[in-house]
Formats: sequence, structure tokens, C-alpha cells
Amino acid sequence: MRLIVLAAPRLKRRLCFLSLLFLLLLVSLFTAGRRLTDTQPAMKPGLLLSGKVFAVDPGHGGYDPGVMRDGIAEKDVALEISLLLRAYLQSAGARVVMTRETDRDLLLPAAGPKKQQDMKNRMQIINGARPDLLLSIHVNSIASPVWRGAQVFHKAGEGNSKVIAEAIQQELRRILANTDREVKPGNYYVLNEAKSPAVLVECGFLSNPEEARLLADRAYQSKLAWAVYAGLLRYYHGQLPGS
Ligand SMILES: [Zn+2]
Repeated sequence: MRLIVLAAPRLKRRLCFLSLLFLLLLVSLFTAGRRLTDTQPAMKPGLLLSGKVFAVDPGHGGYDPGVMRDGIAEKDVALEISLLLRAYLQSAGARVVMTRETDRDLLLPAAGPKKQQDMKNRMQIINGARPDLLLSIHVNSIASPVWRGAQVFHKAGEGNSKVIAEAIQQELRRILANTDREVKPGNYYVLNEAKSPAVLVECGFLSNPEEARLLADRAYQSKLAWAVYAGLLRYYHGQLPGS
């Protein structure tokens, strides 16, 4: 009996000390957590696009090569640039939803003529992702070999799409230093059907022999993807990569 009476206050003191320690631990964990979240975006430039969702749509694929010149197919160039763009966007913390990651079309499971099925399914992926922005990647070709230069088209009548397109076009002009093209509203299915802001980048002309050679070149593809990424940083942060 005596032993218990003596031990009780000591036990109480010990419990009191332990709960104080626990409380201190909780407070320090909480403030450390806050410090981390408060400073993360500024300290880690890699997270400049964190929280953003982008739908990246490499044009064509599978049965549909898009335009072709001298063995170079639009579907392959568009896919390579899109994969490089995805890597840049992901490295900045963005979530990227691709309509395709390999050389495939999107025929199933929609019904109807081939191209219609493909586009319907493409739009389902894009709109289903509820992206902040759709980036559709293509290359151009016309009868004349003279025309050249990358150009950004935007969803018509949608203000954000136009401003984003202008930011990307500005970086394409600055980084590629081979085009003085301006943005235009585009009457394309993906732009018209997108429920989000949307831009379509025509990365250049396969019909121009010199540009066709560039478009098939890995370093130039990377430069194109970097320019699109730089345009997005300019739009979202008024800031360029690495600055
Ligand atoms: Zn195309």
C-alpha cells in the first residue's frame, strides 16, 4: 500500500513530462511541414508547373501517318516531340496525359469511319483528363517547297488559348530563330471540341527540304519541345526556364 502511494506522484510527473515532449514533437513537425510547403515552389524550380494538368496529343499515328515526305512521317515526328515535351513538363511537376505514347491510332472502341473513330476517342481522353491546357502537336506540308516555320494555332474565341499560343510562338521565334510566324485561330477538330483552353503547334513544313531534315533531327525536336515548354513557363510565371 505504502509503495503505491509513494509511486503515484512520480508516475504522474513522468506522464506529464512525456505528454509535454509529445506536444513539443507535434509542434516542431507541424512547423517543419509548413516551412517545407511555404518555400518549396521558390526553392525548387523543378516544380514550376506543379498542380497543372496538360493533355499532350501527338497528331495521327498507327494507320494514319499524317503528311509524308522523303520517308519522314508526320506521326513519328509529332510523337518524338510530344514525348520530349512530356519529359520537360513532368520535370516541372506537371501531370501529363498523352493521347498516345507509341505509334498507334485510337480506332477502338468508337464506331463510324476510321478518322472519325480516332478523333472521337482522342477527344474522350483529352476532355476526360480535364486538363488546364491541350497541346496538340503536328507538322505541316503544302505543295510549295518554299514555305517554312513553326506556327501555333489556338482555339477560336477563347482568350486564354490565344495568350498561351502567343507565349509559345514568342519562344519558338526566339529559340529556333528561323521563323517570324504569328499565331492564328485554327479551325481544327481537336481545338473546336476541346472543353479546355487548347493550342495546336504546327512544328514546321515537311514540304521544305531543309526544314524536313531539321524536323527529323533529334536535337531540333528537343529544341522545339523546349520552346513550347519555355512558352508555357512564360505564360504561367512570366519566367523562362533556368532564369
Ligand atoms: Zn497533322
